[in-house]
Amino acid sequence: MSLALVPPTMTTPTRRVLLPAAIATTPPPLGARVHEFGGRTMGTTWSVRLVAGLQLHREPVSRAIQAALDEVVAQMSTWERGSDLCRFNRAEPGTWHALPEAFREVLACALDVASRSGGAFDPTAGELVDAWGFGPLARTSLPDAPTLAQARARGGWQRLETADGRVLQAGGVALDLSAIAKGFGVDLVARRLDALGVESHLVEIGGELRGTGVKPDGQPWWVRLEEPEDAPAGETLLALHGLAIATSGDYRRWFEHDGARYSHTIDPRDGRPIRHGLASVSVIHAECMLADAWSTALNVLGPDAGLALAQQRGLAARFVVRRGAGFEERTSAAFDCFLQ
Ligand code: ADP
Ligand code: MG
Repeated sequence: MSLALVPPTMTTPTRRVLLPAAIATTPPPLGARVHEFGGRTMGTTWSVRLVAGLQLHREPVSRAIQAALDEVVAQMSTWERGSDLCRFNRAEPGTWHALPEAFREVLACALDVASRSGGAFDPTAGELVDAWGFGPLARTSLPDAPTLAQARARGGWQRLETADGRVLQAGGVALDLSAIAKGFGVDLVARRLDALGVESHLVEIGGELRGTGVKPDGQPWWVRLEEPEDAPAGETLLALHGLAIATSGDYRRWFEHDGARYSHTIDPRDGRPIRHGLASVSVIHAECMLADAWSTALNVLGPDAGLALAQQRGLAARFVVRRGAGFEERTSAAFDCFLQ
């Protein structure tokens, strides 16, 4: 038997660490421990980890988290026919609709990202999403040109008129906030935990995360950046301290037809699923809602235009690009600032 010498880089996965510029050092209370909560929401799973004394009364915390999640679903789900969003989508042309506070906040942010991304992110892409079979209705076949033309004509974020917390249903506008609502849900849960006086928590919905404070051992909440399943070994760890991270990836939801892979992220500018070989885009931001919306926007824009816009806007973004059988990583300067 002989032993072959293998260079260490081939057997040892690379590990990188991302850190914010400053980490507050307030020590957690003596005897504190991590408490875990979890469940399902928005078609995926959620989890919360928080630091509190051994005798934490779980019930009020649990109720506060559930109430925040239910609020997002009741207002913004495309899957619950009774949600405020679905009622707006079904409403008669020419009618104005008062929006509840959270919905208003998310829609304002969505329209802002739509404008800044040149429509790559578009909260009115609902009919296109449905046409490609990524909405609540089952897909039957690929959409034909007239179907897509109609969906594009009825959508378009610029058709959305808002005034005094109300929004106009111009006729057939189908809102879809699925690319931002999860991130907002994370922020809302975090806010409710803050309000309960919980100073250290890690909130996650479907892989979108936000962390505050430090753990009982004084360490920040470390999270691993989401990688495509077939990516090479290696990991990037991020200290989620006063930060959120969201990832939009082609490996999340997609279907295959005649050997082609169709992503659930649609480019509203041509009405078709994106096809530029981006495996994933992660964005680090103070607010998870913005990280979520921007990860989708940059995913639509692709590795070149997306990276250029991330640079211009000072967004911390990481692109994982498929290159033949391998991957290439591209990061913005703001992202590199976290690299140690
Ligand atoms: P993930 O669910 O993988 O985190 P995203 O945050 O990118 O993905 O959200 C994808 C969902 O957003 C789609 O299922 C669809 O409902 C909606 N969507 C698709 N394309 C767009 C777009 N260009 N702008 C806004 N929303 C979109
Ligand atoms: Mg998103």
